[in-house]
Amino acid sequence: MSKICFWMLYFLESIDISIMNISVSIKNLVFRNFLFIVTSCIGMAVFSTQVLAEDKTPHWSYGGAGNPTQWGQLNSEFSLCELGRDQSPININDAVKGSPANIEFNYKPTPLSVVNNGNTIQVNYQPGSTIKINGEEYELLQFHFHTPSEHTINGKASALEMHLVHRNAKKQLAVVGIMMEKGAANQLIEQIWQHIPTVGKTNIVKSSMINAANLLPNNKTFFSYSGSLTTPPCSESVKWNVLTKPIQVSEEQIEAFQSLYQVNARPVQPVNGRRIEFHEQ
Ligand SMILES: [Zn+2]
Repeated sequence: MSKICFWMLYFLESIDISIMNISVSIKNLVFRNFLFIVTSCIGMAVFSTQVLAEDKTPHWSYGGAGNPTQWGQLNSEFSLCELGRDQSPININDAVKGSPANIEFNYKPTPLSVVNNGNTIQVNYQPGSTIKINGEEYELLQFHFHTPSEHTINGKASALEMHLVHRNAKKQLAVVGIMMEKGAANQLIEQIWQHIPTVGKTNIVKSSMINAANLLPNNKTFFSYSGSLTTPPCSESVKWNVLTKPIQVSEEQIEAFQSLYQVNARPVQPVNGRRIEFHEQ
């Protein structure tokens, strides 16, 4: 682009010199063209700089230039990551006993579908599995994992945290968070880990059925609060339900996940006076 501009200007310059002794009107015409090209070239230079700058915008990530402190600056659609007042995750403490509430889980078997999306390992769920919170029904869409846990309970993080993401008919999201701690190996986690594809790929194993119900602890006491997605665009009005009891996974299973994703957890965000409820089962 700059070469074209240079040659056009050079060409006009030569004409200008060669017509020194021709009429003034032609010289004026040439001068106007010269100005036009200079203006266009400046415009093109500014445009190409902007395009290049956009190309150089880092993708959101957990480290480096696109790390969580930068998310709000990476894209205008991510502004809530910086400006939102109800962001997730949070450190859960000072929870107050909430009105009677329980989560009714109605999870059904689904063919195993594992996605390695470059930010986490996600298992997609077929329609038909639901939870009911205070009579409101939400359908399970997918579940995925973070290490270390994104939420902390009384300042304590767990090795991993699983997020089961649900949506109701009004497109509102409800996420169930389950802490995963070092202990006995978990069979279902083993089944999932064995089918992790390479980054950017989905592995559908039709012969392998799974049921997310097998990833729930027996005790379903939970904390609830209103928060956000923990990844860009950090959309708010997400109904968070973090179970107080963890499930167990083996040290090898934790290490296997961390060999793919060393850290994929957003740091805790300010609570900003939000009410955190505790619902005993
Ligand atoms: Zn998550």
